[in-house]
Amino acid sequence: MTCKGICIRHRAQKPSASGRYTSGQKRCQICEIFIKWDGLWCPCCGYRLRTKPRNKKYKARLRTGQNQQGIIYTRYSKL
Ligand SMILES: [Zn+2]
Ligand SMILES: [Zn+2]
Repeated sequence: MTCKGICIRHRAQKPSASGRYTSGQKRCQICEIFIKWDGLWCPCCGYRLRTKPRNKKYKARLRTGQNQQGIIYTRYSKL
């Protein structure tokens, strides 16, 4: 897993208003770059991209859980 320079072509501009993650940008820890990319994996090095600022354990699959009010919800992660 090394940077091949492909990520440069997908490099994302720093958004003025919102944060990087909220505007759909993802961070590659290997390439150390923010890119505009729909996939979960870096098109350059193949490493899993970060989609949230500080996530505990990011799960890309369907998630069912309960919120604080006890309401059961189902959530799809963006792919
Ligand atoms: Zn790269
Ligand atoms: Zn990468």
